[in-house]
Amino acid sequence: MTSLHKNNQVNQLDAVVIGAGFSGLYMLYRLREAGLTTRVYEAADDVGGVWYWNRYPGAKCDSESIYYNYTFSEELYKEWTWSSRYPAQPEILEYLNFVADKFELRRDIQFNTRIQSAEYDEESNRWFIHTKDGETVTAKYFITGVGCISTANVPNFKGLDSFKGEWYHTGHWPHEKVDFRGKRVGIIGTGSSGVQAIPEIAKEAGHLTVFQRTPQYSVPAKNHLYSKEYIEEAKANFHENKKKVRASLGGLPITPPDKSALDDTPEEREKVFEEAWEKGGPYLLFSYSDLLANEEANETVSSFIRSKIHEIVEDPEIARKLTPTYYYGTKRAILDTNYFETYNRSNVSLIDVKQAPIEEITENGIRTTDSEYELDMIVFATGYDGMTGSLFNMDIRGRDGISLKEKWENGASVQTYLGISTNGFPNMFMITGPESPSVLGNMPVAIEQHVEWIADCIDYLRNHEKETIEAKVEEEVAWSNHCRELADSTLYTKVESWYTGANIPGKAGGFQIYVGGYGPYREKCEKVAAKEYKGFLMQS
Ligand code: NAP
Repeated sequence: MTSLHKNNQVNQLDAVVIGAGFSGLYMLYRLREAGLTTRVYEAADDVGGVWYWNRYPGAKCDSESIYYNYTFSEELYKEWTWSSRYPAQPEILEYLNFVADKFELRRDIQFNTRIQSAEYDEESNRWFIHTKDGETVTAKYFITGVGCISTANVPNFKGLDSFKGEWYHTGHWPHEKVDFRGKRVGIIGTGSSGVQAIPEIAKEAGHLTVFQRTPQYSVPAKNHLYSKEYIEEAKANFHENKKKVRASLGGLPITPPDKSALDDTPEEREKVFEEAWEKGGPYLLFSYSDLLANEEANETVSSFIRSKIHEIVEDPEIARKLTPTYYYGTKRAILDTNYFETYNRSNVSLIDVKQAPIEEITENGIRTTDSEYELDMIVFATGYDGMTGSLFNMDIRGRDGISLKEKWENGASVQTYLGISTNGFPNMFMITGPESPSVLGNMPVAIEQHVEWIADCIDYLRNHEKETIEAKVEEEVAWSNHCRELADSTLYTKVESWYTGANIPGKAGGFQIYVGGYGPYREKCEKVAAKEYKGFLMQS
């Protein structure tokens, strides 16, 4: 610790929050309400988090909008009106701007500021937080709201620097409109981002070449404008809906029937799946209780979607290439608008880069092991270094200078208590951290639960004159083991995905998400709080 720090000549705050997305905005609101001097640091020049950066064509959320928002304020809920079931990114960003304006949040947010490092000083029991520009502030509480999927993964292809055309990653899309007209565009990646972008780019591009490594299941979103009556009903049922989503498994008011897919005859199942397909959205995955637990049950829904792909795609060879084989739902279940239909267009081609991997980016395009494709533009829809990527982008050091990255061995052995706290890092809280259920559902619901729990915890500490709080080692070991055991009882861990870290070369550690569902997780967190933060170490 430098003498400057010791002399306390730096700005002293009660709390510092990193990120001004859904998490950071609400955390700021709650801490300010509680009377804490708080500053949010945000790398972008405005609020929005992922919705600030993900401006790619077709970007939409995959949870129905009337549930994809805050529910902490009935007034806010009733003042805002969503246009459609799955609104596009500009509308979600507009919503977050509306929230920031309504609660005058911007005055405590420092934009254009990236946090480089944060270290805990045991003498003062404070966090010293350093920006990339050299500013230092101290805070009693250090809270990360950095998102689970916000550190873009641009694969380290040989030759990218030599490419003469334009290239973009979906998660860092420019503010200006990207002009695809007449261009030969290549897109790498067919996850949620690629599946949304492909139909939109294809409408404009001269030719679109899709470089697909793993074929994906996708279900029609069946997006539509909301009627006035539907919105009125949602607003009238605010309290009931809020209660339902908060108790639900995935942050949406959907409860899977307590029935195995194998209990129905093939004809009965077909009817159930067909109805869910027609409704659009996430219903297919919730058609039966065991689709994510039992291989045979999963095969029933997986083969249903495969047959839909073959019905939609006209060319049987392209349909074959698009046919996924993994267990449906073990990668994020994707919703689309005309994704498979897009392969019927004459200006779209599909390249299987599992069969012939990309060898390099050349100055003119992409070269696979068996061909070179000339391109004017490359779109990377290649995903993110999920869960730990954004935490590790900051050099976070706890007691005795121990680094979070080293403690978790670069992600190979993440250890948290409830996904919120980790031993050795007192008064640090992670909103939707690894080993929380967050990314397996409707994020704002997960975020609100964490923010409220953290705010209540800080309230408790202040009222009980506790200086610090951190997870006990034995509790985090137990929580991490519990998370792994639960995950291993499902099909999630049997498939490689960004959930397991397999998308990032060299990243080990496996599946670091709590699969028990939002509602049960909320109950666990509430019990811990009710027992005076059982499992946490507190110092007076
Ligand atoms: P993703 O699901 O990780 O998909 C990345 C894609 O890039 C995959 O098809 C992957 O192939 C491919 N890829 C990666 N590296 C490659 C390489 N070296 N060569 C060839 N292909 C490569 O990423 P994402 O689509 O950005 O989605 C990430 C998550 O963000 C989603 O799961 C979801 O949670 C969230 N998201 C949500 C929405 C929404 O709400 N609608 C929209 C966008 C994103 P492999 O499958 O073979 O690895």
